[in-house]
Amino acid sequence: MGTTIEQQGTIPADDRAERRVHCPADGRFVGSVPDQGPAEVAAAAQALRAAQPAWEALGPAGRSTHLRRWLNWLLDNERRIVGLVQAETGKSWTDCTVEMTVAVDVINYFTTHAVEFLADRRVAPAGLPNKARRLRVQVRPHQLVGLITPWNGPLAGPMMDVVGALVAGAAVLSKPSEVTPLAWAEAVKGWNEIGAPPVLACITGDGAAGAAVVDEVDMVMFTGSVRTGRRIAARAGERLIPCSLELGGKDAMIVLADADVERAAGGAVWGALTNGGQACISVERVYVEASVHDEFVAKVVEKMRAVRQGMDEPGSYATEIGAMITPAQTEIVERHVADAVATGARVLLGGRRSPLGDAYFEPTVLVDVDHSMACMREETFGPTLPIMKVEDEEEALRLANDSAYGLSSSIWTRDRRKADRLSRRIEAGSVSINNALVAVFQLPVPMGGWKQSGVGTRFGGANGVLKYCRQQTVVSERIALRAEPNWYPVVPRRSELMARVVRLLGAHDWRRRLGR
Ligand code: NAD
Repeated sequence: MGTTIEQQGTIPADDRAERRVHCPADGRFVGSVPDQGPAEVAAAAQALRAAQPAWEALGPAGRSTHLRRWLNWLLDNERRIVGLVQAETGKSWTDCTVEMTVAVDVINYFTTHAVEFLADRRVAPAGLPNKARRLRVQVRPHQLVGLITPWNGPLAGPMMDVVGALVAGAAVLSKPSEVTPLAWAEAVKGWNEIGAPPVLACITGDGAAGAAVVDEVDMVMFTGSVRTGRRIAARAGERLIPCSLELGGKDAMIVLADADVERAAGGAVWGALTNGGQACISVERVYVEASVHDEFVAKVVEKMRAVRQGMDEPGSYATEIGAMITPAQTEIVERHVADAVATGARVLLGGRRSPLGDAYFEPTVLVDVDHSMACMREETFGPTLPIMKVEDEEEALRLANDSAYGLSSSIWTRDRRKADRLSRRIEAGSVSINNALVAVFQLPVPMGGWKQSGVGTRFGGANGVLKYCRQQTVVSERIALRAEPNWYPVVPRRSELMARVVRLLGAHDWRRRLGR
């Protein structure tokens, strides 16, 4: 099923190379999109800018109406869109349907709260001289937001950010991954089909198209690798436009001796394998206190052995995880396993490509790992789970923090106070206690990475919309005198009196208040 940008009616047709998409699981041709260049990006940006003022003028309630109609369209076309997600990623049907759940949740959450989040804020003035003033903060969107996304969530990835930007009143120039452009291009087509204002466009192409987007917009929301994030931040710095970056992760899981080991093992398997392990917030390394290490490992192996792999039939929910996205991604996973084994790790399960085919890597459990190994330091982004035995919580914490990344994390213990204490010392943007991955799906609280995992946050209640806005302060005078006491000309006695008043009201003891 091919999708062409011409069908969206927002971007001029042109002679251009085609980008052909094949299913990673079985190699079949799925569809194609054009490879677009800077001229098309500039034309799309111009059209979006022309449409944006009317979109902003609709107000949050008016804009939300269009977003809810888009939600209806997505649900009416669910099978087709989720089918495209599956065909271009090779994921299990379960992993694909999660993407529609994200779309539904994000649209409902931000449209429900749009009016509240974007309301003017009245603020009490500070200081006596300002008592006669009214302060208000109002927000105006960045006119054009650039949205650049990776391949691991073709629908959910852009959805997590596009809704906040559209609700805010911005126009959005989106650029999905060149590996998986089809589902998102269709979703944008749906936006146009419902007759919504033409404030959302989809540019297709590789990194060059992404760079052209960064060159055209007023703010960039990027999700992807650290390497690309750095480039985008540098270019945004040159252009002096804000950027928000959601980058890679190497999320640590800490299992303490008093944890519910059965639950922790189940959470570890789910956290490591969801989306085939190709998720930024997946569990990438586990530290287990020595007294429960063997029991935990045994349960993880048992549960992981039961995981069914394969790209199942649409609607069948017959497998847990699917294929690797590209041969290059499989090679990274292979390299991490080989490096670990060569330096002393043991493979308790998997550790190789699956008999299902070259695109599949078997769910893998590694033990006897340490921080000299790539599997504990670099982002693996595959169905592997390296587990390390630690003496106590201090060692677990030290190792968890010994990373260039700081996206998410989890702590497993029955002792709430201990978990809370550790959560204040772990260096990650979010901490799930007695669960894995959940912190990322909480729309009212921020989701963002520390260290090399990112700059800024997504979601976070009002901030999920306000991040796409500029704040504007309005100060108005309640009483307008003919002149203010500090205006010209300077009158020495008046200035002296004002200085005395500052001292009288500002000092904290009588000697200083009276200037003695
Ligand atoms: P990537 O950085 O290679 O590509 C991401 C997007 O950036 C693609 O659309 C690509 O075309 C575009 N791009 C490439 N070069 C560009 C440039 N110079 N200027 C502008 N755009 C450019 O990432 P990927 O391989 O597609 O995705 C995997 C990475 O994404 C992993 O590191 C993963 O951890 C990360 N990720 C992070 C999150 C998060 O929320 N933190 C979520 C999902 C994925």
